Amino acid sequence: MLIFDNVTFQYEVEDFSIIDHLSFHITEGEFVSIIGPSGCGKSTVFRLVNRLLEPKSGRILVGGKSIDSQKQSFGYMPQQDMLFPWRSVARNVRLPLEIRGGFSNSEMDRRVEQTLTAVGLENWGGKSPKELSGGMRQRAAFARTVLTGSNLLLLDEPFSALDYLTRLTMREWLLKQWERERKTVFFITHDVEEALFLSSRVLAAEGPPITHLRSFEVPAGYPRTTGTLQEPAILSLKEQLIAMLRRDMP
Ligand code: ADP
Ligand code: MG
Repeated sequence: MLIFDNVTFQYEVEDFSIIDHLSFHITEGEFVSIIGPSGCGKSTVFRLVNRLLEPKSGRILVGGKSIDSQKQSFGYMPQQDMLFPWRSVARNVRLPLEIRGGFSNSEMDRRVEQTLTAVGLENWGGKSPKELSGGMRQRAAFARTVLTGSNLLLLDEPFSALDYLTRLTMREWLLKQWERERKTVFFITHDVEEALFLSSRVLAAEGPPITHLRSFEVPAGYPRTTGTLQEPAILSLKEQLIAMLRRDMP
């Protein structure tokens, strides 16, 4: 679904390549998290996939094709929900359909309605984003991301600004959406527990620079409960990942 082939990227103001000959891949339908210390270059990886940045060398493929040849953007959900305050919730969620084009108004209304219902916001379409709680806003942002029609969802720390209990609820909620939508999810977090709870595989980044990602299969099936995190195999992987991340601290 996603392939990085020897990708190097450098910000102009920096004197080193923050992504340095990086190769990895994600298979269709996987839920893969990337964890790593803050500032190591995780969001940069997403910006490269979304063509907000261009690699200095190497190739990035989505669905077997180079991203250079693709006009479509992939579903991208940043840390801040980025809902437009002057648009109602429904009109925010509808935006990707307007951008994609070719949908009648009634078709757009129908899809928005259906997606809002799926994320538990069926009566909230007419409200302004500021009338929603933080968790509801992230659900609306997720609905908008799904309506991009992309089979690859890039979620960049979507829950990190939420309070602890909302975050726990949103994790369970996201897994339900994933089981229903069957999209490939690439998820950034700095929270080891969150990565273990959600993912089928965890990619651990060290750096900067990011030269490679160490891949760890999460030894648990789905569905998951909070009890999953207490299983011995998960606890031992958690210790291992935390020890790895701490090694990078000054
Ligand atoms: P992460 O998401 O892992 O926290 P980022 O990918 O956002 O890290 O950024 C990694 C590093 O790249 C930052 O520490 C910063 O030094 C540098 N960086 C990020 N954005 C820019 C930019 N627009 N211009 C120059 N340097 C940047
Ligand atoms: Mg980031």
